[in-house]
Amino acid sequence: QEGPPGDPLSGLLDQVRRSLRDLGGGAPASYIPELSRVDPDLFGLSLCALDGQVYGSGDTQVPFTVQSVSKPFVFALALADRGLEEVLTRVGAEPSGEAFNSIRLEPGTGRPPNPMVNAGAIVTTSLVAGDTPEARFDRILDGLSAFAARPLAVDEAVYASERATGDRNRALAYLMHNAGSLTGDVEDQLDVYFRQCSVLVTCDDLAVMHATLAAGGVNPVSGTRVVAPRHAQHVLAVMATCGMYDASGQWMLQVGMPAKSGVSGAIGVALPGQFGIGVFSPPLEEKGNSVRGIAACHLLSDQFGLHLMRAS
Ligand code: GLN
Repeated sequence: QEGPPGDPLSGLLDQVRRSLRDLGGGAPASYIPELSRVDPDLFGLSLCALDGQVYGSGDTQVPFTVQSVSKPFVFALALADRGLEEVLTRVGAEPSGEAFNSIRLEPGTGRPPNPMVNAGAIVTTSLVAGDTPEARFDRILDGLSAFAARPLAVDEAVYASERATGDRNRALAYLMHNAGSLTGDVEDQLDVYFRQCSVLVTCDDLAVMHATLAAGGVNPVSGTRVVAPRHAQHVLAVMATCGMYDASGQWMLQVGMPAKSGVSGAIGVALPGQFGIGVFSPPLEEKGNSVRGIAACHLLSDQFGLHLMRAS
């Protein structure tokens, strides 16, 4: 499905990736022990156009766990199942200015700040339809697969590692349960969240998933409608303001496209009406975003004038 070698767009992606291959700095996440075993030199860059053509350079087909890049897509499923109004009673839509694992909840309501930080994502995961945790996870795996246009699977070793070391997420979930923003069995809700973070994707998958959001919810590869246009729009809006954690403002200033990062070193970008991008490079800066991933998106935005606020 990738563009033929030598096509101009793959050539441009190649240039961007090669110019950043030797960029140092950062380190792969280690707080989930299994993630620290990754090869830090892996580097892939993919783009999916809205005609469904996928272009790529580097390690575009190497699987890694989706981690927080799952959050926009599960938010989309929660919106599809519950509607915006109900979702907003349980989770906010304000940038937190804090780290991805921030423990701050809204006074009074107990709502986490937004669905892109861990606390908010644990809530949106719990809002996906299904009578049992298994049914909810099946819906999530099917939904992520529909966004990717291929069946996805879980990395069981990363899942076990997340579950064994996830005390901070556990603490967040119990706090939210106490505050009323998370309902149901807390351990069951966490289990679905840990599994969701451990779903394996590739750079090409991320490009297709984000192209689906950029296309208003229709997957350009499969032609299937995954979510309603207004829900894709809601998701892109929250990604634009909250997707890069406490680097979201700076990101909007310099890159100017809705994006989401994850601790595996993935960044997904969606330019509405244009394309989706997936980048993967494990070393992270101190805020938990991929060093080369950030640099690649800066370069692409600058070189091709992709900033959303650009007048012409
Ligand atoms: N599974 C990770 C966690 O919950 C996801 C965080 C991330 O990708 N930033 O800690």
